[in-house]
Amino acid sequence: MEEKEKSMRVEKLKKRAKHCCCRYCGGDIHVRQLLYSSQKEPRIELYCDQCQKVEYGVEKEAYASAKAMVEALDFNHFPDLVDGEERKQMNIAKVANITSWQMRYLGLTDESGFVVPVNINEYSMEQCTTVDNDELEKLLEEASLWTNQSLQQED
Ligand SMILES: [Zn+2]
Repeated sequence: MEEKEKSMRVEKLKKRAKHCCCRYCGGDIHVRQLLYSSQKEPRIELYCDQCQKVEYGVEKEAYASAKAMVEALDFNHFPDLVDGEERKQMNIAKVANITSWQMRYLGLTDESGFVVPVNINEYSMEQCTTVDNDELEKLLEEASLWTNQSLQQED
C-alpha cells in the first residue's frame, strides 16, 4: 500500500475509534499495528485490548441499545451455548450488528457516525408494570374506550 493511502486509512480508523466501541464488551477500540507471522508487512487495524481481538466496532449508541435489548428481553440467538457472560456478549454483538446495518440502511449513520440527533429513551424502555389478568382486561378496555373517544373528538 502506498504511504499516503496508508496514512489516510489510519486517519479514518482513528476517527472511527472515537465514536465507536467494541461490539462484545463495549470497551474502547484503538488503532493498532499488528504483526502477523505469515505476513511481512504489519497490518493496521482497530483492536479491542480487553477482548484481544481485531474489532471494527459499532457506534457506542448501537452497543448501548443492543445491550439494553438483550437484557430487557433476555434475547438469545445462540441456544446451543452455555448461558454466561460470553454468550451475553455474543448476543449483544449480534444485535449491535443488526442495529448498525439497519441504521446505515435507513440513513441514520454514515462513516462519521450519526447524521441525526440521538435521543436515547432509556427510562420508558426499562419501565415495567406488572398487572393481574383481570386488571389488564379492564385497562385494555379503558384504553380502547379512550381511543374511540379521542377519534370521535377529531370529527
Ligand atoms: Zn472488547
